[in-house]
Amino acid sequence: MTLSILWLRQDLRLFDQPALAAAAAQGAVCAVYILDAEMPGQRPMGGAARWWLHHSLTALQGAFLERGVPLVLRRGRSADILKSLCQETGARRIHAVAHFEPGWKQAEAEVAAFADLTLHSGNQLAPPATILNGSGGRYRVFTPWWKALLTRMPPARPIPVPDRIEAVSGIASDDLDAWDLLPTKPNWATGFDVWTPGEAGAGAALRAFLPILRGYDAQRNLPSITGTSRLSPHLHFGEISPATIWHVAAKEAGAAAEPFLREVGWRDYATNLMDIFPDYPLANGRENFDRLPWRSGPEAEADFDAWTKGRTGYPIVDAGMRELWATGWMHNRVRMIAASFLIKHLLIDWRRGEQWFWETLVDADAAANASNWQWVAGTGVDAPVFSRMMAPLTQSEKFDATGYIRQWVPELADLSPPYIHDPEAFGMRPAAYPAKRIGHREARDRALSAFAQMLGR
Ligand SMILES: Cc1cc2nc3c(=O)[nH]c(=O)nc-3n(C[C@H](O)[C@H](O)[C@H](O)COP(=O)(O)OP(=O)(O)OC[C@H]3O[C@@H](n4cnc5c(N)ncnc54)[C@H](O)[C@@H]3O)c2cc1C
Repeated sequence: MTLSILWLRQDLRLFDQPALAAAAAQGAVCAVYILDAEMPGQRPMGGAARWWLHHSLTALQGAFLERGVPLVLRRGRSADILKSLCQETGARRIHAVAHFEPGWKQAEAEVAAFADLTLHSGNQLAPPATILNGSGGRYRVFTPWWKALLTRMPPARPIPVPDRIEAVSGIASDDLDAWDLLPTKPNWATGFDVWTPGEAGAGAALRAFLPILRGYDAQRNLPSITGTSRLSPHLHFGEISPATIWHVAAKEAGAAAEPFLREVGWRDYATNLMDIFPDYPLANGRENFDRLPWRSGPEAEADFDAWTKGRTGYPIVDAGMRELWATGWMHNRVRMIAASFLIKHLLIDWRRGEQWFWETLVDADAAANASNWQWVAGTGVDAPVFSRMMAPLTQSEKFDATGYIRQWVPELADLSPPYIHDPEAFGMRPAAYPAKRIGHREARDRALSAFAQMLGR
């Protein structure tokens, strides 16, 4: 009997799961998820993502069990666990979906040294190294990369769940609860019940989005309404494949799906950047930013603390940071505004903010998080110039954040526009709401002077 190990990572699904399909077609399957906190070069998962993982694995265990397949849970270094599983089961073959974070790539190399490892493409629209420019090099800028990707689209049709999966039983598994992925003291995740982690939840999120897909382009920047798909954590954990999303969206809306699919493309593009620059979460894409004099010391720490708590005195920023803390997610437009505020208004190194998002986002994704922070900071290989500063108060009005601010900053719920966007400027700031950490003009001057210093002017 041929027996394969199915090594699950950020691909926690049965539908359009090419590694599962290949393993099941060859014979019996031993499905394993390894909690690997020992991967060199890989940051430990943040608290919000651990919460998601717990529920996603619960859902996956249930889905496998319905088909009579136990999901084996193990903790430790991936290569060590897989080696001992090969010995326990007699398997020589391992199937997995390819991942491109540096820690995963190293783990794959270690596993390939002792087993017959087959990596299947399944979590990207196309493997990053296959989208090449005319001279055979890699793209660093989105638009030409997107045009090249489009020539390869649509992606392959999704693969159905195998009719029958022959299981391997009697393999010891950890108890998921013993992994302590959920917060207890205190339980800060009470507001996370807006989410349904797992493959069924991903499908439901996609179905709920379809009626608003055609309005996506017009509404995706408006935080006060539900104008986006909220698929990001499902995509990060691989509970749904981007190919499935592509085919469903294209079927639903034809060419009108393009603005949405383009955003799904940004996810692939972020993976492309991380594949080229493995240290992107840590190192400036433009090295001259290594000389930028970021603020540090007690005052900067107090500013950082106010930012994390949503008490900067800028309503749109505070609403976003409170939404993040309460739900593990923040609207994309507000992510840009809040990130820009930390970097340019408070002049705090983008890596501090990136790490905070890493801890608090349910969709925390090494490639997407780093590439977006570097883009906003102006430090990224593809980013606009640093001196282009977002004005949070103008953005708040332009994208009509009134309802959003009322929801997340209850101290301001009684205010109407224009006061709600900038209560301090109109003398309307309630005592319970903090004063601005710094005025916009003063912040702008400080940021531009730091930038000039970096350039040696
Ligand atoms: C500072 C900052 C940090 C971010 N960190 C993350 C992160 O850690 N993880 C993450 O998944 N996204 C991150 N994003 C991108 C974006 O904010 C989220 O993907 C989006 O808000 C998720 O909501 P949605 O699923 O409703 O998106 P939709 O608008 O419905 O888009 C569909 C999908 O496309 C992908 N996508 C959309 N925009 C982007 C983008 N700019 N970059 C990469 N992929 C994108 C996501 O997978 C998303 O689910 C970040 C953006 C900023 C500005």
